[in-house]
Amino acid sequence: MRLDKLLANMGVGSRKDVKALIKKKKVTVNEEAVKDSGLHVDPEHDVVKVNNQTVNFQQYIYLMMNKPPGYISATTDHREQTVVNILPETYQKFKPFPVGRLDKDTEGLLLITNDGDLAHQLVSPKKNVDKTYYAKIDGTVTNADIQTFENGVTLDDGYHTKPAKLEILYSDDISQIEITITEGKFHQVKRMFEAIGKKVVYLKRIRMGKLLLDPNLDAGHTRELTEEELAYCL
Ligand code: URA
Repeated sequence: MRLDKLLANMGVGSRKDVKALIKKKKVTVNEEAVKDSGLHVDPEHDVVKVNNQTVNFQQYIYLMMNKPPGYISATTDHREQTVVNILPETYQKFKPFPVGRLDKDTEGLLLITNDGDLAHQLVSPKKNVDKTYYAKIDGTVTNADIQTFENGVTLDDGYHTKPAKLEILYSDDISQIEITITEGKFHQVKRMFEAIGKKVVYLKRIRMGKLLLDPNLDAGHTRELTEEELAYCL
């Protein structure tokens, strides 16, 4: 694409402004000052700087998926179908990837983006983003379990979890609960229930920080985050 058109599209200024910057030798391509504003550049490979600042041509996408069961949280895999495989074709060129992981059989809220910094922030233990899951448990969940989870439980590898908030929605042979955790250890919710002798038979993430799973989003479907939702993540 022509350099002046590209920079104008990126909001650097009008084409006239861009031409003026080029005339003043304020624009470089691959460290060489540009003389011709009609120069053709490849945004994927050329490094363009304006006033010594690199212009970021990357277009970010932020998607909410209601992950269906049976898909792994990865970009590609030799054997399994991944969550990226089921994204609409239009998003594939952005090279999206899932933020963190849900188990193959876990459903619900999954963020998919190509913004590495945001993804890193959201999964960072320092950020402590809390996550809420709805689950069905084989076994009667009791008020004593609420206290046990509040104190943290010791997992099979000896790790003692941070306090987790357990809410009983329905208590019977198969109980229904919501659990909020601030960590993201491998199979954490399943292993926490294992630690108290109970088995998770269904698991769905419904919230990450302030971001709620859209109840109108069917399993396997994806939509872009609204500006308000994106602000929750930043
Ligand atoms: N905890 C689990 O056990 N599995 C998940 O997919 C997410 C949290």
